[in-house]
Amino acid sequence: MGFEDNIRKVTPYTPGEQPRNKVIKLNTNECPYSPSPKVIGAMQDFDWERLRLYPDPAMTEFTESLAKHYGVKPSQVFAGVGSDDVLSMCFLTFFAGEKPVLFPDITYSFYDVWAGVYRIPYKEKKLDDEFRIVAADYYEQNGGVVIANPNAPTGRGESLELIEDILEHNKDSVVIVDEAYIDFGAETALPLINKYNNLVVVRTMSKSRALAGMRLGYCFGNEKLIKYLNDVKYSVNSYTLNMPSIAVGKAAIEDKEYFDEIVGKVKATREWTAKEFTSLGFTYSSSDTNFIFAKPPEGYSGEYVFEKLKEQGIYVRHFNKERITDYLRITIGTDEEMNILFSALREICDV
Ligand SMILES: *Cc1c(COP(=O)(O)O)cnc(C)c1O
Repeated sequence: MGFEDNIRKVTPYTPGEQPRNKVIKLNTNECPYSPSPKVIGAMQDFDWERLRLYPDPAMTEFTESLAKHYGVKPSQVFAGVGSDDVLSMCFLTFFAGEKPVLFPDITYSFYDVWAGVYRIPYKEKKLDDEFRIVAADYYEQNGGVVIANPNAPTGRGESLELIEDILEHNKDSVVIVDEAYIDFGAETALPLINKYNNLVVVRTMSKSRALAGMRLGYCFGNEKLIKYLNDVKYSVNSYTLNMPSIAVGKAAIEDKEYFDEIVGKVKATREWTAKEFTSLGFTYSSSDTNFIFAKPPEGYSGEYVFEKLKEQGIYVRHFNKERITDYLRITIGTDEEMNILFSALREICDV
């Protein structure tokens, strides 16, 4: 009807809730610790007068520190406003063919949204009953492959052999490996960018570097792929990262010591909380991420436990989606937050 026919209509991504009041927030996989003191220093030292100028569209300071830190060439790095922006640019750039792009049925729920908004055909490949990726599902003809490793919301990491198996069978399409959680487990595919010119490895500063609010993401790949990405970026919005973000990104990547410390703390909390979940009768598979994907004991549905926790100001994530509706995705918080969670769960589940 009239202008309605000309409008791009899409089903949007649903982000986890960001409540304004003080709650225990275990629903969007943020880091429970503050960003590096070097990051806070970089913000304090920032010369706000400079804001009248446009930022460096190539984000050189940031991309060069990333290249140095990860041992790649600056021409193999691309950065954006969170890895959501980087992934969105990757979908737009690399998936322009007619064949369907392949990704798992249970994975980051933004992939099918980008496919939708960019009108990219796609096919979802079923994870097996243990929520594992079946490499052979990705051998068929396709227009691209997207694998989150470790996967979300399952928390499972796959071996580098499986990733390489998928790469070996996909020389004619771009393979994206989304490593949002790699700092918490599984082995990175990063060294493989020099072996496979069709591989893109995507990373974020939102989870392991405690910078979700700054919106910083990046990816690595063959120079040619990075050039194609930049061509598209400069055709949409040349100035993606603002000046403070560029300064903060550089400061964050340079503070390895603090990074190791907070990742270590999250992993330590993950280890003892896993045992606690077992004693509460929850079932889960071991996590390679900063969250646990767990099923409440018999008789307590995922939705029920989710609602009960919310009433007490404890936010976790529940997905109303086939195969995973019984589960809750619970971010690893501080030891104190987890203790509060467990006393609430003991009451809710009558343990
Ligand atoms: C959190 C997450 C992202 C997005 O992170 P940004 O905050 O946009 O950097 C991308 N992929 C997966 C699998 C995630 O869990």
